[in-house]
Amino acid sequence: MSHAQYFLEATYLIASCLFVLGLKGLSHPDTARRGMIMAAAGMAAAVIGTLFHPDIHNYLYIAIGLILGSSIGIPMAMVPMTAMPQRTALSHAFGALAASMVGIAEYVIHGSKLGPVKVGALGLEVMLGSLTVTGSLIAAAKLQELMRGTPIMFKGQQIFNLALFIVMVGSFVTWIINPAGATFFYVMVGCAFVFGIMLVIPIGAADMPVVMSLLNSYAGLSSAATGFVLGNNVLIIAGTLDGFSGFILSILMCRAMNRSITNVLFGGFGAAVTQETAVTGSMREVGLDDVAVQLAYANQVVFVPGYGMATAQAQHACRELGNILEERGISVKYAIHPVAGRMPGHMNVLLAEANVPYSSLYEMEQINPEMQSTDVAVVIGANDVVNPDARDNPKSLIAGMPIIEVDKAKSVVVLKRGKGKGFSGLENPLFFKPVTGMLYGDAKTSLTNLVQAVQKV
Ligand code: NAP
Repeated sequence: MSHAQYFLEATYLIASCLFVLGLKGLSHPDTARRGMIMAAAGMAAAVIGTLFHPDIHNYLYIAIGLILGSSIGIPMAMVPMTAMPQRTALSHAFGALAASMVGIAEYVIHGSKLGPVKVGALGLEVMLGSLTVTGSLIAAAKLQELMRGTPIMFKGQQIFNLALFIVMVGSFVTWIINPAGATFFYVMVGCAFVFGIMLVIPIGAADMPVVMSLLNSYAGLSSAATGFVLGNNVLIIAGTLDGFSGFILSILMCRAMNRSITNVLFGGFGAAVTQETAVTGSMREVGLDDVAVQLAYANQVVFVPGYGMATAQAQHACRELGNILEERGISVKYAIHPVAGRMPGHMNVLLAEANVPYSSLYEMEQINPEMQSTDVAVVIGANDVVNPDARDNPKSLIAGMPIIEVDKAKSVVVLKRGKGKGFSGLENPLFFKPVTGMLYGDAKTSLTNLVQAVQKV
């Protein structure tokens, strides 16, 4: 082995260790930041090592790619936190596109001279990569509201999907048996692109987090397969870590929504009949001073943040109000729903940014038994994750999704701007219950005003 190859293998080994340690760090909020830094350092090591690959003779295209990629990547990373999910979906699309293109290029260069194992890995890489490209683009478009978020269905969709799947897998198998038959290879690629679209369009926007992490998993497995084709260990390790962690995250999210993964993926394929609960009555508006008195004389207050807290950037004001209440001897807890906001861990990140101690954060299963003894539940820009329809109406679009049961608290105050619906587009019967008072306005403004109002009580 040459010095360059020793260096390459050493950096790949370091990168692989850093990826594993990074992932381990991400498993806990206290170590998550360190985990991210380790993973980023691992990626830098892998890139630097690859630059010493003995097969690289000309750095011009690499330099062009680096400049082009950085000039697209840097502005993409500057999007607000609220746009992070669609940005992540775009990253998956790019990653999968790279894996598919490498696979296609390998096939064009080496053709049927690749051994049977490499042919299988290459086929898998290109098939998974191609469907991830289009699936991720559709997910990004749905999340960015460039497409309608509700499931898109048409007559004969199930038959069409099944036929497409059979042709795609059939072409894959036929091509593996006879790798010289390029037609089957390209039919498989074409079908995979269409299948990615078909896989995501019938899925409602509310299920998009699960789909995203599943697509992340496909992109990872596709990269791992690329590693087998290229004989690149770091790609195999990183791709496998990505593939399986994405898959485990999908399963955990499904558990959090009390759904099976097949129900999320194929539930939309059938014509599921959904029906919203007809809400009667009207919403009761409450004033700032009313809410301040309720909070000041409470024994326990639970804050339930949602997507609206992220858009309003109200986490610091929330923490400030929490501090003031705690100074008065009131027990303050922050209830975190696993899919609150627009990405897993969204609320944890925001509250950590505002220095809310980790010990004050309660997961859904921990806080729900305490709801009956909670004096005031303050819902900050959350909607779907506190919608009792998910629990009470089996025909609801979000039926079965566990919720934070704020409706069981002695009093509920909802901070939102107006009568806007949640991500699922459903009406929320919570807002019409006698126990609930609506405090309208931007969440940050309302919380800042509440801080002053409580201090006067
Ligand atoms: P949500 O259902 O999207 O509701 C957010 C609410 O915030 C809206 O009703 C809106 O009402 C209010 N709001 C918006 N801006 C506000 C502001 N500046 N001040 C005050 N209120 C504001 O949010 P959620 O309860 O957190 O539920 C999350 C939903 O997103 C779930 O359906 C989940 O499945 C889905 N999802 C989650 C993820 C994830 O991984 N966490 C990813 C993608 C999708 P107004 O317009 O009236 O103010």
